[in-house]
Amino acid sequence: MQIQNIPNYQNFQAPPPPPIFDEQRKYQQFQPPKQRLHCIKCGRNQNVSFQTFTKKYVSPVATLGIFLGFLPFFLLRLLLTTKHEISTTFCELCWENFRNLESKTALIYFGGVMALIVSVTIAGIMNSFSPLIFGVIVFLPMMIWGFFYNRKYSPKFKKVNENRVTIVAPVGGEITFYKQK
Ligand SMILES: [Zn+2]
Repeated sequence: MQIQNIPNYQNFQAPPPPPIFDEQRKYQQFQPPKQRLHCIKCGRNQNVSFQTFTKKYVSPVATLGIFLGFLPFFLLRLLLTTKHEISTTFCELCWENFRNLESKTALIYFGGVMALIVSVTIAGIMNSFSPLIFGVIVFLPMMIWGFFYNRKYSPKFKKVNENRVTIVAPVGGEITFYKQK
């Protein structure tokens, strides 16, 4: 019965307290792990990983080069294009939709332009305006489709210039990526 006489929580029975070096450190130790990764496109936090892609910015000056002819236009475009290497978080599905989006969109636009060129050619050969109507009927929806298809699967780019790219994410809001020099 002697054991009953030993009071609980005597100092010598308690484990030593964790070492605390200063107040700040004490609070840092007890913070839960803060950020989970969220997809920059849809905001989900499952199957999210870092992915790298290139975002191009073409200076509007290059577009003015079109007045000088096609060759100066393409040369100016090459010279005045900034490529931003961006590494950010995507969920599996959004990355699958986005990774080849640029070429898919370009293909849709190309289809529309080809329809227009073919209809102009046929109109010229037939010396008639009606093939042109067909061309425009195909061209316009293709352009609109390309635009909305891109918008559906692309992260929301708010601002892109030669120095930075700003994306608006559903979780966390605006994120700006600066060009590394
Ligand atoms: Zn996503």
